Amino acid sequence: MPSGTVIPPSTQLGWRETSSLSGTGLTIGVLAMQGAFVEHVRVLTKLGATVREVRLPRDLDGLDGIILPGGESTTIGKLLEAWGVLVPLRSAIARGLPTWGTCAGAILMARDVTDTLPGQPLLSVMDISVRRNAFGRQVQSFETVIVIDGMDTDVPFPAMFIRAPKIESVGPGATAIATLDDGTIVAARQGTWLATSFHPELTSDARFHAWFLDIARANLEHSSDPGFAGAAMP
Ligand code: GLN
Repeated sequence: MPSGTVIPPSTQLGWRETSSLSGTGLTIGVLAMQGAFVEHVRVLTKLGATVREVRLPRDLDGLDGIILPGGESTTIGKLLEAWGVLVPLRSAIARGLPTWGTCAGAILMARDVTDTLPGQPLLSVMDISVRRNAFGRQVQSFETVIVIDGMDTDVPFPAMFIRAPKIESVGPGATAIATLDDGTIVAARQGTWLATSFHPELTSDARFHAWFLDIARANLEHSSDPGFAGAAMP
């Protein structure tokens, strides 16, 4: 999201109090090259996680999960490549690092992207096809509520779309977990990987972040099981 983006008034309400401190004991990276990364840091910190801004390959060491923020995927991709993070990040994710891409982050994760710029560097790890800017321009940004399959609540989630991608299809490895009323897929999961077209970090609802932390914790506990040989893919 470019600087100067107007955040709708509904999201400027106070923080919705949550008693969850689901992040305690987890170290979560937030890719901090461009875009809405500060907002993710803020929510994760509120949830008790140790948060590390990721800009260099060494910042990936010892993470229990990583969030790839919204912003401009072409810019983030170029910086990932220029700062030497693209290849090690792709490897870490492919080895099973819990990863959540919001908007531009979801574009970076997708194996198949329509309307990319020529040569746009991408991580290309997740079994989803996305179309960039599929809901139109910045002025066509909108907010709605959706139900997320697998999140442990039926209370609809506020979802904000800003020059968002559509998830046009999910491959056999991934599952659609949220759709709009017209059937458009706006969130998907593949094991410990999540992709959302929308921006939970720009609302005052921390449930999506708490859910990602639950996934990261379960993965950590699973990988420390004796006999766990390391996951090639989630
Ligand atoms: N349209 C942007 C892109 O292609 C994504 C917008 C966003 O992250 N809010 O990267």
